[in-house]
Amino acid sequence: MAQGHSVDEYLETIYFLAFPIGEYTPRGTGSPPLASRVAEMLGVSRASAGEMLKRLEAEGLVERGARKEALLTDAGRERAEKVVRKHRLIERLLTDFMGYTGAEAHVQADLLGDTFTDEMIDRIDERLGHPQRCPHGWPVDPDVEQAENATLEPLAALEPGTEATIVRLAEHDGDLLHWFYDQELVPGRELVLERADPAADQFVVRLDGDRRAISEKAAAGLFVRPS
Ligand SMILES: [Zn+2]
Repeated sequence: MAQGHSVDEYLETIYFLAFPIGEYTPRGTGSPPLASRVAEMLGVSRASAGEMLKRLEAEGLVERGARKEALLTDAGRERAEKVVRKHRLIERLLTDFMGYTGAEAHVQADLLGDTFTDEMIDRIDERLGHPQRCPHGWPVDPDVEQAENATLEPLAALEPGTEATIVRLAEHDGDLLHWFYDQELVPGRELVLERADPAADQFVVRLDGDRRAISEKAAAGLFVRPS
């Protein structure tokens, strides 16, 4: 088995790779979720990822497209959507009920992923009052997430001069996530992109009159709604 990554983690990764504003979409038009991309995202070898993808195919959760890319079948997609919903609700349990910060919640939620049954997750959802989003702005309901994708852009893709509101934070890079919180680059924050210089790895944003230079990686991990 691929270095401790579960079927659910693979499905979640393929899910994120499949959408235009998925967490892992590279700049530009996006590339299909190939074994190599999946391996890169999970930090495993291509061989491990290839092996797991074969297993997912055998289980009817994934099928290969024309370019050998991994596509979720209906069953795979249903399960992946359940995994992301669960993750987002557990994060809210951690922040709203257990007092973790948004920066901490993602990693802790990954540790708890397999702990709760579907029935427990429904109870958590009810007790928390059916939260709409995880602490990092990702909609709990995957249908809402997918519909909203069309309205968002990574900050790195905007034209300089554009005003925007931060809606979601990329959360799979723990260091970057902590940095977003340290910088108060959090959901709901309004900003203006003043300068974009990918060649120099520098994007300058204005936050309430305060000017800040951020890296391209950070700009690519802030999903914003241009106003
Ligand atoms: Zn989150």
